[in-house]
Amino acid sequence: MTVPFLSFAPQHNPIRSEVLGAIADVYDKQWYVLGEQVKAFEAEYSTFNHVAHTIGVANGLDALHLALEALGVQPGDEVIVPSNTYIATWLAISFVGGVPVPVEPNPDTYNIDPARIEAALTSRTKGIMPVHLYGQACEMGPIMDIARKHGLWVVEDNAQSQGAAWEGGLTGSFGAVNGTSFYPGKNLGALGDAGAVTTNDADLAHKVQVLRNYGSQQKYYNEVIGHNSRLDELQAAVLRVKLNYLPEWTAQRQNVAQLYNQHLAGIADLQLPATAPGATHVYHLYVVRTTQRAALQQYLTEQGIGTLIHYPIPPHQQQAYAHLAIPVGTYPLAEELAATCLSLPMWPGMTEEHVLAVAKAIRSFLGDRG
Ligand SMILES: *Cc1c(COP(=O)(O)O)cnc(C)c1O
Repeated sequence: MTVPFLSFAPQHNPIRSEVLGAIADVYDKQWYVLGEQVKAFEAEYSTFNHVAHTIGVANGLDALHLALEALGVQPGDEVIVPSNTYIATWLAISFVGGVPVPVEPNPDTYNIDPARIEAALTSRTKGIMPVHLYGQACEMGPIMDIARKHGLWVVEDNAQSQGAAWEGGLTGSFGAVNGTSFYPGKNLGALGDAGAVTTNDADLAHKVQVLRNYGSQQKYYNEVIGHNSRLDELQAAVLRVKLNYLPEWTAQRQNVAQLYNQHLAGIADLQLPATAPGATHVYHLYVVRTTQRAALQQYLTEQGIGTLIHYPIPPHQQQAYAHLAIPVGTYPLAEELAATCLSLPMWPGMTEEHVLAVAKAIRSFLGDRG
């Protein structure tokens, strides 16, 4: 049995006519940018995420960038960021002239370790950007306590974790202003690029609204040097349909994760993902660790099982950040995760047979080698 890393079919096939109908409505309405679909999606996403304001933007990277710009981050401002995130979190900081200051993760949950944050603070630190990596909520209680104590803002990178919660509070609703992504493969995915900013602060919401649309509220009157980063009507219409199914798809992801936990238990040299007490996990990705990663990945490929690596190179070791001149070994946990992590197939609609096929292949490979 082959198991692709990701298949959209079980999500998209049952709602095909509903989605195509929504697209046809936009087509016929002849209003394609910042119209009633975007407005309605923003209201519905705010309800879903328990926030006062959602601002639809072009993609997740822009969401984070505009959030930082709205906060007034200045060149040289230091921002605490995970050492093991996707590079977008770092890029958003760099775009506004900020300095990413990496903090290592908890090696079991893969999320930023709150106990390590205070040691990284300096007089130039302005904020913290927790990333709810792979779909698990960060330990937001301790993180918000540190932020309050030191007068720092928080911007959550919620790109992988729509619907996750820390002690009942939804990710994307803790920070002053937060970013999420609706890239097709994310838990809530558009049919192309899309993203959103979420906030409870009316002033920051207004700033982002202006920034996404050429720095303008009134057409041809420009208050600030803005961007063109708008969510379009077609994507908003598709997202409105898909948002209704997100809770069901999340439950399916959680069920697949539970089956993996059960069928992959007790294999030597295979570390399964752990969830912190107080956190929920919406399993954007199911990430295991093994010292035999390359060989295991090759074996699984030969068995028709798709896997990916999130991420093979930590941001501080990317060529883009060579100017930081961070010596090898400075962030050993990020480097170790990059060398050992493997993302197994994970998508709503995966069956227990799929999970069993993956588990059997992993067991026969790692089991054989002890
Ligand atoms: C996907 C992602 C982003 C960026 O989103 P895009 O829509 O691709 O720009 C940012 N941060 C994280 C953690 C992501 O996974």
